[in-house]
Amino acid sequence: MSREVRRVPTTFDWPINEIWQGYLRPNKFDEDKCPDCKSGRSPQAQHLRDLWYGYLPFDPESTGSTALRHDTPAVRAFAERNIGNAPDFYGTGEPAIVREARRLAELWNGMCCHHLAQDDVDALVAAGRLMDFTHTWSAETRWQKIDPPVVPTAAQVNEWSLRGFGHDGINASIAVSARCEREGFADTCSTCQGHGSVEAYPGQRAAAEAWERTDPPTGDGWQLWETVSEGSPISPVFGTPELLAGWMASPAYTWGASKHSQLSYETALRFVKAGWAPTAVASADTGLVSGVEYVGRHTGDET
Ligand SMILES: [Zn+2]
Repeated sequence: MSREVRRVPTTFDWPINEIWQGYLRPNKFDEDKCPDCKSGRSPQAQHLRDLWYGYLPFDPESTGSTALRHDTPAVRAFAERNIGNAPDFYGTGEPAIVREARRLAELWNGMCCHHLAQDDVDALVAAGRLMDFTHTWSAETRWQKIDPPVVPTAAQVNEWSLRGFGHDGINASIAVSARCEREGFADTCSTCQGHGSVEAYPGQRAAAEAWERTDPPTGDGWQLWETVSEGSPISPVFGTPELLAGWMASPAYTWGASKHSQLSYETALRFVKAGWAPTAVASADTGLVSGVEYVGRHTGDET
């Protein structure tokens, strides 16, 4: 949280505590939502992604995988861990384990990410993913590629996905895009080229990209700004640094920490001349003081 002194025209009348208009991207650059996609994906890519996460009905046989059962070792181990961690919730004993294992098997059978085909695994390996299989790791050597290269089987990866963190969103995107490519589909929406939104008028996107923040006009006046937000004035404009310092040392200045600790005129003046201050600074000899006070004290030694 910071405050700084700006030199603006003495006639500058932007409202106090309002973000300067030049710092806000105008609403006219907001694009329209694409009518043909949810997030820039082609229909095929969206469908595959929904299958990956189990948002659409999925059948393990469709990828050549095998449906999980309550007695699949990785499922059973996960269920035992859940029961052990929360016996009050799950109950105890063999029936509770089997019940939880059935629930997990049904859940995971509905998600493509636990039933990848070998093509999916190959695509992930080609993209440098699945390093648990293809690399070794140690604190000294970090990740080291196994030589000759290892390509895990789909069954190995699907079993691995039931433990630990499994696949992340990057793996989902890589597998979906690779499958689209293999099957001859685009992975991005043709209407919006993957943006997820379309221009509300011709040239809008280029204009938005060309837009830049503009600073307030400069001039002979002195004004205090906060830069915690994009930036807004928090004092009137004064004709001299002394007048701004006088205002900062008066009860009128109530921003931030100064509500509680009144600045001296001398401290305020040194701050104004030094230009800017972080909002609060801690040091051994002062404790936590407002940034204005800190800069005021420390620049005083040199001037
Ligand atoms: Zn689209």
